[in-house]
Amino acid sequence: MARYDVIVLGGGIIGCSLAEELARRGRRVCVVERGTVGCEASTAAAGVLSAQTDLERPGALFELCQASRRLYPAWVRHLERQSGLDVGYHEDGILYLALTSAGAEQMAHRVAWQRRAGFRAERWLPHQVRAREPFATEQIRAGFFFPTEAQLDNVALMRALSLTCRKAGVTLLERTEFHRLSMARARVVAVETSRAYLRAPIVVDCLGSWAAAGDESLPIRPARGQILAFDAPPRLLHHVVMSEFGYGVQRRDGSLLIGSTVEFVGFDHHVTGAGMQQVLSGFHRMMKPEALAQSHVRDFWAGLRPHSQDGLPVLGPTSTEGLYVAGGHFRHGILLAPVTARLMSAVILGTRPAMDLSPFLPTRLS
Ligand SMILES: Cc1cc2nc3c(=O)[nH]c(=O)nc-3n(C[C@H](O)[C@H](O)[C@H](O)COP(=O)(O)OP(=O)(O)OC[C@H]3O[C@@H](n4cnc5c(N)ncnc54)[C@H](O)[C@@H]3O)c2cc1C
Repeated sequence: MARYDVIVLGGGIIGCSLAEELARRGRRVCVVERGTVGCEASTAAAGVLSAQTDLERPGALFELCQASRRLYPAWVRHLERQSGLDVGYHEDGILYLALTSAGAEQMAHRVAWQRRAGFRAERWLPHQVRAREPFATEQIRAGFFFPTEAQLDNVALMRALSLTCRKAGVTLLERTEFHRLSMARARVVAVETSRAYLRAPIVVDCLGSWAAAGDESLPIRPARGQILAFDAPPRLLHHVVMSEFGYGVQRRDGSLLIGSTVEFVGFDHHVTGAGMQQVLSGFHRMMKPEALAQSHVRDFWAGLRPHSQDGLPVLGPTSTEGLYVAGGHFRHGILLAPVTARLMSAVILGTRPAMDLSPFLPTRLS
């Protein structure tokens, strides 16, 4: 029977980044993944690393996002070096387009508190927006530019992370379904899977939207997001553009992703007519129809974001001895992967995490 120090349930970005961090710290780690690495939300995402633009207020989540953003450049360099792959990380900034005066006022407030806290953010007049994003519509009231925000190709990132995990010695058990925990004297001792019985004193639930399969008391549920992808002329967009109605992000090779819906419809991966209409009309409130006139539809998909009861990540030990959780990252899971790996590995290894985890502890939800 295989024995490990830690078994990670779920091979999304959260499970794999934590597994890699623990393996680098000398632990024998196994990841149990029902499909293939990254096959759910982590490859369905748009790859926008927004640590300021969509953060409504200062507080624990904002601080967590800043901590992860600080770790990102070195984490990307590490993954690229280990895997030999380019993950398309670029700090081009995000341009938020306010389409109503109420929206402009709300963003002006956000920019003000962020600047007071020492973060960079600029307000652009409509003609300045159009000078930098020529397809921007006439409806734009104001632009708010966050120059230190970034984007990456999350599909390439998951490939790089998978290779880096293997190189670090992580056992990646793909096409292996977690069935149940095995307990002895009220603590976790093993997990039963569709393929094997695996022993470990520590198990981490990184099952994303399926987190309740590991601990049924966890109030985490799926929030479906739909994306439409185009092959577009390169540099159609010069920044990630975002508004209250959606966003558009273009990779260097021209692929343009527009999204996204937030729908609480259970474990349903369907792409719907209404969803596609919503993302297209949201994009066209920001960008003129000519923007997409020469672009070919390449693909469309839906993914399930893990949403916790209060919208915050859930990080730390559960009430079951030996069982931990790292989940509920909702719209920020790609951004929050490196800090989650760093903090969770500290908790699991019994060292002091670099941040206060109390706002994120699972016990707050019980
Ligand atoms: C449309 C969309 C756009 C997004 N855009 C962004 C963005 O731009 N920036 C950003 O930061 N975040 C974004 N997100 C959010 C981000 O994708 C998620 O927060 C993140 O991927 C969550 O990672 P995870 O590893 O927790 O979950 P997942 O990636 O869903 O991984 C969970 C894994 O568990 C596996 N699993 C489930 N049940 C079992 C079982 N019984 N046995 C074994 N394995 C199992 C699944 O197969 C899956 O691979 C977006 C999400 C969506 C859907």
